[in-house]
Amino acid sequence: MTLIRHDPPIPIEEGLRLGEDDDYLYEMWPQLFNDRLVLRVKKIPTTWRYGWCFKQANGLAVVAAFAVWDPETEDEPIGWHKRPGREVRKAPQRDTKPDYNQPRCVHGDYMSMACLRDPFCPRKREAS
Ligand SMILES: [Zn+2]
Repeated sequence: MTLIRHDPPIPIEEGLRLGEDDDYLYEMWPQLFNDRLVLRVKKIPTTWRYGWCFKQANGLAVVAAFAVWDPETEDEPIGWHKRPGREVRKAPQRDTKPDYNQPRCVHGDYMSMACLRDPFCPRKREAS
């Protein structure tokens, strides 16, 4: 998997295209109350497979998280507060960073620690 980072990002109808690899387009989509980092499926561009919501900050939080994210070894980026959708991403080389890739709740906190977003977080583990 070769990740290409677009610098500067490419403006698109939904927001900004930040990069791409063989399978996905990495995009920032402003939502009503969040900015979302979306992995849009290249073969089916009407579909996204993975997404993470960030506090709204004109896309800056998403851009910063994407800049330091290594999708090859890291399942998910940092700094998000909600994971929409059911599927949890697994990085192709995730075994190289076992500490980073510990299971997280839907709010982005590690299961082994308290959820900082929701005291009633169900802490459900997604199927792997
Ligand atoms: Zn949680």
